[in-house]
Order: sequence, then C-alpha cells, then structure tokens
Amino acid sequence: MARRKYVVGNWKMNGLTGALAEAQAIFAAAADHPGVDVAICPPFTLIGPMVAAAPGGAVGGQDCHSAASGAFTGAVAAPMLADIGARVVIVGHSERREGCGESDADVRAKAEAGLAAGLAVILCVGEPRAVRESGGAIEFVLSQIAGSVPDDFDPLRLAIAYEPIWAIGTGLVPTVADVAAMHGAIRGALAARFGDAAEEMRILYGGSVNGDNAAELLGARDVDGALVGGASLTAAKFVPIVAAA
Ligand code: PGA
Repeated sequence: MARRKYVVGNWKMNGLTGALAEAQAIFAAAADHPGVDVAICPPFTLIGPMVAAAPGGAVGGQDCHSAASGAFTGAVAAPMLADIGARVVIVGHSERREGCGESDADVRAKAEAGLAAGLAVILCVGEPRAVRESGGAIEFVLSQIAGSVPDDFDPLRLAIAYEPIWAIGTGLVPTVADVAAMHGAIRGALAARFGDAAEEMRILYGGSVNGDNAAELLGARDVDGALVGGASLTAAKFVPIVAAA
C-alpha cells in the first residue's frame, strides 16, 4: 500500500484569532487535494477555535506533557488536546529539545502520552550544523530515533519528521540526495526494529520548505511529506506546498 502524502503546518508561537481565516482557507483548498493529508498545529490557544472554525480539518498541538494530568503549571496534557478536538501532536521539535532541554527519553514519553490519548504523533529529529559538517548527521539522527521512538504503536499514527536544525527558518536546505540518504537511513533503522511496519510509517522532511522547493524535496525517495513552519502561516504560501505533494 502506497503511503499517503502528509503536509503539516507548524505555526509555532504565531497566530491570533484573526489568523483563523487563513486556516479556513488552507483546509478549504486542501479539499481539492484528496490524496494529501493536511494538518495545522497552531498555538494551544487557537486549537479549540480552529477546530470550531474549520470542522473536519485536522488540527494539532505542538507539544504535550508526558503526564495525563497533575501539578505541572503551564503545561498541557495530551488528553486535553484530544478533548478539544485536536487529532495530532508534534513532539521533540528542536526548538523544544534545544530551547527547553528535552531529552530523547522526554520525547519518547510525550510520544507515548500522545498515542495513549488517541492522537497521531509527529516525532521530530534532526542534527545541528556542526554535526552535519563533521559528517555525523546520520549517526546523530539514528541515535535520536533509537532513544525517542516508542516500542509499540500503530505505524499509521506515528510519523517521523526529519528537520536538520540548520535548515529551520534559515532558507538553507540540504541537497535532495542528502535528504533521501537520511530518510533511507531512518526507514532502515525503523525496519530493523519494527519490520514491515516501517514501510507504512511516514517520514516527513522539514526545514525551509516553500512552494518553490516542495516538489523536488517531496519527490525524493522515502520522503512522505513536509513539516512546514514559516510558509504554513498563510494559505497563499502553504497551499502551493500541498499542491506540490
Ligand atoms: P521552517 O520551520 O519551515 O520555518 O524552516 C520548520 C519547522 O521548524 O518545523
């Protein structure tokens, strides 16, 4: 069975209620591309309003706590996301691994919490620039995969997003050959651990994806979609990426 393409917008800490019109336009346009799964992950504050404004659209969180509830001031639990209609959660984004000190074990626990709450999970990995330059990118990313991917899950509900840190928000992108090599290595590691299920799992590329480079990047072997930051904030920029998928 061919893997369906998956294009996910990560709005990061952007978007007030006025931005809901963009989400409506994105989901409306996505309906013209029924072969592509589209999701938008806005800030927590916009999840409920976006679900209400775009019924049927796949809306998600950008993070969740590993516990289902408790004394964790400021945190949001996966069952809370599911409760307000989110269907997806991103875990392990480099802005949280680096900025909030999240370890592979933390990311794995969050992924497990998301799955337990019935959410689909997008689990991010990616190397810093110095590691890429030293030639150790694949080894680094496979170590993140080993440490942060849970043991037990439905392969259709856990996607990996490969996001080289040096490509995020910089306009820099790896060569298509480098992307294909990394995605192939990730799929190989997943196959070694999970067997045939690895063929069903989607591996997204993220980092400076835009309407101009999407067709080439998403056409690379083992690339099943994109996790898009800056270019996901408006329909004008995001819809061409969905169309290219
Ligand atoms: P970018 O961000 O598309 O703005 O580079 C991607 C991401 O961080 O998910």
